[in-house]
Amino acid sequence: MQEVLRDEAEAAGVEFHWEEAPPAELEAAGAVVIAAGNWSPEVARGLGVRLEVTPWERGVFRVGPFPWLEGPVPMTLEAGSGYHFREREGQLWVMGPGDQHDWGHFRDWLACRVPAAAVSEPAGHWLGSYEVSFDHHGLVGATERPGVWACCGFSGHGVMQAPAVGECLAAMILGETPPLDIGALTPLRTEPLVDRTQL
Ligand SMILES: Cc1cc2nc3c(=O)[nH]c(=O)nc-3n(C[C@H](O)[C@H](O)[C@H](O)COP(=O)(O)OP(=O)(O)OC[C@H]3O[C@@H](n4cnc5c(N)ncnc54)[C@H](O)[C@@H]3O)c2cc1C
Repeated sequence: MQEVLRDEAEAAGVEFHWEEAPPAELEAAGAVVIAAGNWSPEVARGLGVRLEVTPWERGVFRVGPFPWLEGPVPMTLEAGSGYHFREREGQLWVMGPGDQHDWGHFRDWLACRVPAAAVSEPAGHWLGSYEVSFDHHGLVGATERPGVWACCGFSGHGVMQAPAVGECLAAMILGETPPLDIGALTPLRTEPLVDRTQL
């Protein structure tokens, strides 16, 4: 997918530079977007901008495959606690709060919700990092420095927000009206956004 997006962007005139120091003329660019996930504060500092994004360790335990797990299973989430799972190729991928290295409390939760999946040892375990902002919402929009834009701090919700955020931010940079008003995500906000629908 990344390749397709890159090819489309290159066809539209974008130049990519991988694993290189930023070119000296970066500052002369019409717009600079800081979209470096957990590395955004460091990139921002280099541009004289302040962005706060903090890494939070987040794990995924895999159990199965289970022959009884047939057909598509919707992502299933316990709203009160945040424990949830999704199904991939007959396995359950389980995520939740608490110690991200300790299978025990994930297993205890499965024992209540899906007892047949509460196996003594998981089949696998991955760890990654959420990129968390002060109020757990993305930091998207103009920064305090003209021409420098933020697009980071999605706090574990970045994949699902990416298409809409990308389209809106592109319109904002071009001075057009974005399809959605995402002004509330301004990186300059000091009051937390309150959204009781997210985990
Ligand atoms: C276990 C786990 C499960 C998740 N599940 C979901 C989910 O179900 N739904 C969902 O919406 N989100 C989910 N997320 C969160 C989602 O992955 C992130 O919110 C999203 O990847 C953030 O995208 P990003 O582009 O802002 O940052 P990143 O994906 O971190 O990308 C930043 C990029 O910037 C690059 N970079 C760093 N420094 C520089 C530099 N100096 N110059 C150039 N490039 C640089 C990095 O190499 C990296 O490729 C999950 C995260 C984890 C860890």
